Amino acid sequence: MNNRANYEAIYRRSITDRSGFWQEQAAFIDWATPFDQVLDYSRPPFARWFVNGTTNICYNAVDRHLAERGDQTAILWVSTEVDCRQQISYRQLYRQVNEMASLLVELGIGAGDRVLIYLPMIPEAIIAMLACVRIGAVHSVVFGGFAALALASRIDDASPKLVITADAGMRGGKVAPYKPLLDAGLAAVTVAKPKVLVINRGLASEPHPIAGEIDYHQAVARHAGQEVAPVWVESSHPSYILYTSGTTGKPKGIQRDTGGHMVALRMSMRYIYGVEPGDVMFAGSDIGWVVGHSYIVYAPLLTGATTLLYEGLPIRPDPGIWWSLVADYKVNCLFTSPTAIRLLKKTGVEWIHKYDLSSLRTLFLAGEPLDKETHRWVNEALHGPVIDNYWQTETGWPILTNFAGLGLMDLKFGSPTLPSFGYETLLLNGVTGEPVGAHTKGSLMIRPPLPPGCMTTVWNNDQAFVNTYFSRYQEPLYATFDYALYDEDGYFFIMGRDDDVINVAGHRLGTREVEEALCSHPGVAEAAAVGIKDDLKGQEIEAFVVLMSHTTPPTVEELKNVVARQIGGIAKPKYLHIVSSLPKTRSGKVIRRAILAIAEGRDPGELPTIEDSKTLEVIRDAIRER
Ligand code: AMP
Repeated sequence: MNNRANYEAIYRRSITDRSGFWQEQAAFIDWATPFDQVLDYSRPPFARWFVNGTTNICYNAVDRHLAERGDQTAILWVSTEVDCRQQISYRQLYRQVNEMASLLVELGIGAGDRVLIYLPMIPEAIIAMLACVRIGAVHSVVFGGFAALALASRIDDASPKLVITADAGMRGGKVAPYKPLLDAGLAAVTVAKPKVLVINRGLASEPHPIAGEIDYHQAVARHAGQEVAPVWVESSHPSYILYTSGTTGKPKGIQRDTGGHMVALRMSMRYIYGVEPGDVMFAGSDIGWVVGHSYIVYAPLLTGATTLLYEGLPIRPDPGIWWSLVADYKVNCLFTSPTAIRLLKKTGVEWIHKYDLSSLRTLFLAGEPLDKETHRWVNEALHGPVIDNYWQTETGWPILTNFAGLGLMDLKFGSPTLPSFGYETLLLNGVTGEPVGAHTKGSLMIRPPLPPGCMTTVWNNDQAFVNTYFSRYQEPLYATFDYALYDEDGYFFIMGRDDDVINVAGHRLGTREVEEALCSHPGVAEAAAVGIKDDLKGQEIEAFVVLMSHTTPPTVEELKNVVARQIGGIAKPKYLHIVSSLPKTRSGKVIRRAILAIAEGRDPGELPTIEDSKTLEVIRDAIRER
C-alpha cells in the first residue's frame, strides 16, 4: 500500500468511525477512571470527548515517565541571552513541578482557579504550566512580547488569582522588562487584583519583588521535597486559556480541555511529527503561542521525549545557532516558522551546511503561509523533508499536514498537503455557500464535531463560540477564517485570512486592536490599520491616522510607540501616515479593503458605496511618502 492509500484509509475511518478511531488513540494516555463515552455531541456545536474519564495532564507528562525514563532529559534549556545551558531530567522536573504546585496550593490556588503566566523562555515557565495543571488550575500564558494593555485585557477576562512573572528577560542582549509592564497592566485592570509571584533573575536594575509581592525562590525553598498528588479532573475540565486575536478589538480566550487535548497531541506526535519516546524535539517558537503550548511543552512531554527550550534570537550570535543546537543535541524533529527560514535564506545556505544534521529527520513549518520558493529552498538545503502544516490557536494541532510518522505522501511546495485525522474539511463559495471545485478559491470550513484537542469554547462566553465560529452558513460549520483552494490531487493551498487578522512573522494581530491603541491617544480622531505583503515577515502593519484638529499634533514616531507600549513591539506599525481623511462607506464604515489594495499597489476596483472617492487619493499620496 502506498502512503496515500494508507492515509486515505485512516482518514476515512477518523471521519466515519470517530469513536472507534479516537478510542484507540486514547489508549496512549493514562486515565484514573476510564471514560464511559468517547464523544458526547448532544449539544452541537459543543463536543465533549472521553466523557466521565478522569485524568491529569501533569501526571501523564511527568509522573508516568519516572519508572522508565526518570534520568532522561525532559527539558534542555539553552539561553544565548544569559549564556546558560541546562538539562533537567524527568525526575528533576517531577521534583520542581511538585514544589511549585505545593507553593501554589499554599497561595490558595485550587482546581478551576486561573493563573496568568507572563514569563520569558525559562524552565520555570514550563514548570509553572505543569504545576497548574497538576492541581487542576487553569493557566493562561501571555506572550512576553505583549505589553501593559494586552496584559490588562487578559487579566480582566480571565480574572486570575495569581500572576507569575519575572523581573526581566533579555532580548538581543538587552534587558527586556517584565515586572514593570505587568505593573502598568495591573494599574488598568477592573477585576480584583491577583497576587503576584516574581521569579527574580537578577537582570533588572530596580529591586524585585516589591512590597506585597512574593519572591519565587524564597517561597519555593520552603516547599523543598514536598509532593502534591495530581488532582484527577474530568476530561472536559479546562486545562488552559490562550488569548488570540480576531475581528473585534478584544482578543478571545481559547479554552482547551484536558483529556481530548492530551489524546490529540499524543496522536499528532506519532502520526504527524514522527516523534517517539526518547527523541529530541526543538520547536523554535515561544511558550506564549499555541505552537509553544503544544510542541515545546505538552506534546513532547506527554510522549516522553526531550524538548529543547531556547531563549534568544534565531540569528544571534550568528545565523547558524539553531543548526548548531540540532547538531549538539541530536535533535530529531525541528519546528519553526516560515519567517525564520526566510531570514536564514537571506544569510545563506552555508549556515545550514556547516553542521552535522544527520540526527534531523524532519523540519516542520507553520504559523503563516509558506511560499513555494522558500519551501523548495529549505527542502533542498536540508535534502528534505520539510513539511508545511496549517493550523490555528483554536485547533491546537494541525488541520492540514503531511504525515512523517505514518509515512510521507508526495510533497508539493507551497502546500500543507491534506486534512489531518478527524478534520472534515469543506471549501465553500463565500457568497453562495456552495462547495467549490478544484483550483477555485473558497472559505475553508470544518464540519463539526471538531476533533479532540480543539477549542471547546470561548472562555466564559459560550455564545461567542457559537456566534464567532459557527454562524456563517445555515449549516453550523466551523469557520477557519482562511481562504484556500485545492488542486487536482486534493492538495490544499492556503490563500490567507478572509477577516481582519494580520499575521506578522507568524504573530497574529487584529487590525482593530492596533486601531484602538492608536485611538487611545488624545490627539487621534480615527485610525485604520491594514496588513500589507512583506517578503520577509509575510505581512507588515501599515496605519493611517486622522488627527483631532484642536490638540498639539503627535509625531509619527510617538504614535507608533503608543501601539508598541500598549500591545507590544510586535504590533508596532512599520509605516504610519497622518492623513486628512479615510475612505468610508456612506454609512460611515472605513473601507479597509480599498486602503489595503492601494497600499499594496493594486487597483481598489469598483467601490459603489464610497462616500467620497477623493479619499482614495489621500491614501495614494500618503503611501508615496514611505
Ligand atoms: P495562530 O492562531 O496565531 O496560530 O494563527 C493561525 C492563522 O495563521 C491561520 O488561521 C492562518 O491564517 C495562518 N497559518 C497558520 N499556519 C499556516 C500555514 N501553514 N499556511 C498558511 N497559513 C497559516
